[in-house]
Amino acid sequence: MIANNDFLAYTLAYPERNDVFDFVFPSGHARIEGAGILCLEPEKQQSKVSLVLSVGIHGNETGPIELVNGLVKSILVGDLVLGIRLLFIIGNPRSAVKAQRFCDVNLNRLFCDVNLNRLFCGSWQSQQGYEIQRAQQLESSVKTFFEAVEGVGAQRLHYDLHTAIRGSIYEKFAVHPFVPEETYQQQQLAFLAACGIEAVLFSHQPTTTFSYHSFAQHSAQAFTIELGKVRVFGENDLSSFALMKQSLVVLLVTGVLAQGRLSALSLYEVLDSLIKDHDSYRLNIADELENFTPFKQYFCLAESLEQRYIVKQTGDAIVFPNTKLPVGQRAGLVVRSKPMSAFNFQ
Ligand SMILES: [Zn+2]
Repeated sequence: MIANNDFLAYTLAYPERNDVFDFVFPSGHARIEGAGILCLEPEKQQSKVSLVLSVGIHGNETGPIELVNGLVKSILVGDLVLGIRLLFIIGNPRSAVKAQRFCDVNLNRLFCDVNLNRLFCGSWQSQQGYEIQRAQQLESSVKTFFEAVEGVGAQRLHYDLHTAIRGSIYEKFAVHPFVPEETYQQQQLAFLAACGIEAVLFSHQPTTTFSYHSFAQHSAQAFTIELGKVRVFGENDLSSFALMKQSLVVLLVTGVLAQGRLSALSLYEVLDSLIKDHDSYRLNIADELENFTPFKQYFCLAESLEQRYIVKQTGDAIVFPNTKLPVGQRAGLVVRSKPMSAFNFQ
């Protein structure tokens, strides 16, 4: 058993403990599969949903960790009756204990930040360090979890919850994985709307994030979800996650995806990746500029001794700007708003 049914406290107390053990809770049985990895199987399954909820892939993103830990605690205590399979992952326990985003910082010149959320889809190969082992361990847990149930009607879901370094015009937004055939599931977008998500950014290429890994390797419906700004443990205003919490409770208990209004979502496509091409590379924006801030046409957004990036159309906006990284890496995404009618849904 876990003291006070508090898996977060347990994980922070033993961030390196990887022994496996089983225990029972009022509506099913549980297995701790390693540090921060808890698999819950319901006694009575209400639907064939297998849900991965991952939080704290970046150790300092505490809001979602507290949100999901609270739900898991309610299940372990018996206040909520679990009706679906659940894999709860606290992604980076060692960083969470230190209240920092990464562990292996400044490992070498090529790898100044070991960003765990860029190490999936096998990208951990040929690297070394804590985050590398962790990516490998998480991939393996997700594989075991998803592959335990196959067949007709089985639905695989993975929501990877984050908070962002900077503010955002849309406080809550989701990143949709790249889908080559460009057909999107309306049910998933309506669920995001029900969770209080305000915008969805459609990726333009494959990536090596945790959610993309579940999408590409396990055919899960999977999203990276940003839920506001980074705060330290205990300082999160959990009321701002009320809609997310409500929708997750319904999903955990009944297996039903709550459906919000699609029209509540602003949709964006990625137009260009900004790549830091030279040490002289800089973005012509303020440090505290919010995600999705739009620019005027012809504004020189980025420049280096090698090239300049000129905004193509008024309204084009920037997301995830960051130049504190090695040459060759992504310094931001330029995105453009697109009407709902421009997308194919099924
Ligand atoms: Zn993050």
